[in-house]
Amino acid sequence: MSTAPVELTALPPLETAARLGRLRSAFEPAGCDVLLVTNLANVRYLTGFTGSAGMLLVRGENALLTTDGRYRTQAREQLDAAGVSARIEIGGPADQYRALASAVASARVGLEAGAVTWAAQRALGEVFEGCELVPTSGVVECLRRVKDAGEAARIEAAAAVADEALATVLPLLASGRTEAEIGLELDFAMRRLGAEGSAFETIVAGGPNSAKPHARPSSRPVGRGELVVVDFGAKVDGYRSDMTRTFCVGEPSAELREMYEVVMGAQRAGVAAVASGRPAAEVDAACRSRIEEAGFGDRFVHATGHGVGLDIHEAPAVSATSADTLQERSVVTVEPGVYVPDAGGVRIEDTLIVTNTVARAVTRFPKELVVA
Ligand code: ZN
Ligand code: ZN
Repeated sequence: MSTAPVELTALPPLETAARLGRLRSAFEPAGCDVLLVTNLANVRYLTGFTGSAGMLLVRGENALLTTDGRYRTQAREQLDAAGVSARIEIGGPADQYRALASAVASARVGLEAGAVTWAAQRALGEVFEGCELVPTSGVVECLRRVKDAGEAARIEAAAAVADEALATVLPLLASGRTEAEIGLELDFAMRRLGAEGSAFETIVAGGPNSAKPHARPSSRPVGRGELVVVDFGAKVDGYRSDMTRTFCVGEPSAELREMYEVVMGAQRAGVAAVASGRPAAEVDAACRSRIEEAGFGDRFVHATGHGVGLDIHEAPAVSATSADTLQERSVVTVEPGVYVPDAGGVRIEDTLIVTNTVARAVTRFPKELVVA
């Protein structure tokens, strides 16, 4: 494992400038002539702009980014750094809407259905008067499913930070500290190693709390003979990692050890099923069938995994009902779990880069059950 803090300049650059062109070729299948991007992760993906407010109108030949005065300098700098040529309009909401209105005459205007509130839709109906508003879903997200080298490198760097942070914090598990204290130390270690933050709210759940898949770290100390589920990730330049390890402080009971072995076997089977061209649902089935055969089928209460990138949960879905097919250079998690109320829970999760042969795990922390 590396010990040096993350050096962004050492990572391959993001291929941001090529993305608007690829997006435009998705307009026709989506039934629109222009697309108004209001999901901020999508705005970032397409332009490099990381502000907390803004809209991106993508037309056939050019693009318009609108945002407010807080981001006047930042927006220009970030678009220039990404090599993205788009007009930038700065102002309050009315100014931004005016700029959007004057940029489109009559057209089919795609809106991102999952990122537009009812109020915004009503306002945009007036802004784009004379146009047809078209609900779209997953247009930019579909591009985001396949990572370029720069994106994969950032996710890998985030995973390396998380591995290293867990190694430094592991001795605390058996020290009688509370879940919240251990979680705080993990978050701190990731920041110290160069992460810009946690990928999501860190989960440290011991004893009965480990049986709750998304428990929040509490003031309860981790006791001996208890399982502890640690689910966390780091964020590097906007990109996230996601890893779960389950430990037992001291020797586990036979029941807890069996649960661990079942989940470990299921996780290995799931990882082995990850390859480009395969339906994501088969990965879920590989995990789920192992757990069902062991008699814990009704204790595996969530999907097997999800895509990871600028968002912690993104396409493709890795679930029983997923219609997605895995693509080369997608990044997905495999995270089966078994949760027995009051007794405890086990979840083991890796973040993987999909290839046409064996998936490459970027989360590499060992999967040893027992810690002293
Ligand atoms: Zn996780
Ligand atoms: Zn996850």
